[in-house]
Amino acid sequence: MNDNLIVVSGPSGSGKSTLIQMLLKQHPGLLFSVSHTTRPKRKGEKEGKDYCFVTKEDFKKMIDGDQFLEWAEVHMNYYGTSWREIQEKSNLADIMILDIDIQGARNLKSRFPGAWYVFVVPPSMDELKKRLINRQGEGLNLENQKRLACARDELAQYVMYDFLVVNDDKDRAFSDLNCIYMAFCQRLNFKKALVLKMIGGQE
Ligand code: ADP
Ligand code: 5GP
Repeated sequence: MNDNLIVVSGPSGSGKSTLIQMLLKQHPGLLFSVSHTTRPKRKGEKEGKDYCFVTKEDFKKMIDGDQFLEWAEVHMNYYGTSWREIQEKSNLADIMILDIDIQGARNLKSRFPGAWYVFVVPPSMDELKKRLINRQGEGLNLENQKRLACARDELAQYVMYDFLVVNDDKDRAFSDLNCIYMAFCQRLNFKKALVLKMIGGQE
């Protein structure tokens, strides 16, 4: 288990999934942490790729079995990162990106202080509302009303993050996230083997 994690949060509808998918496409070596959730599958989402979709009963069994690194109740559903997902997928040389809510990010911050924490925000509250309403033609249903109602409080927690990505234009925002990822790849951890070899040193 290491700190090679990029943790992305932001209000629902700010565009986290969109930007992360663009990043994964650009960098096939980057790993995505697939969370478990009890929320219904959206159109186009794939089991085991976007989420592992489980019942509340099964999720609670996993909590009781201590199978989550972190979990939270978000907008009336449960979401969690399983130990298995992180331990089985990543090894020392890998970077993993996580899309988790603010409670989850706070939990991870104490455990993984060396991870990078990125906050994705919409350009305005009006735009956030539009995006939520238009996503898959969902409209202003109960869940989206709840998401909007939470957005202001979520935005107020920006201070715990290292980086802020304003998702106004998709390509421009992607370029910001890409810069963050590229800088992460330059960290000493990934480069030190070369220097150690030159000086004949060991870690
Ligand atoms: P999140 O993962 O943060 O909940 P999504 O990635 O699902 O958000 O994005 C919410 C909606 O907004 C989706 O319909 C997506 O296509 C759209 N969207 C994302 N980024 C932009 C953008 N920069 N401009 C316009 N629409 C966007
Ligand atoms: P959505 O239902 O829009 O996919 O996600 C709703 C919220 O749940 C988002 O803020 C997302 O970041 C968060 N989320 C997704 N997976 C996890 C997880 O494993 N743990 C936590 N704490 N939050 C998650």
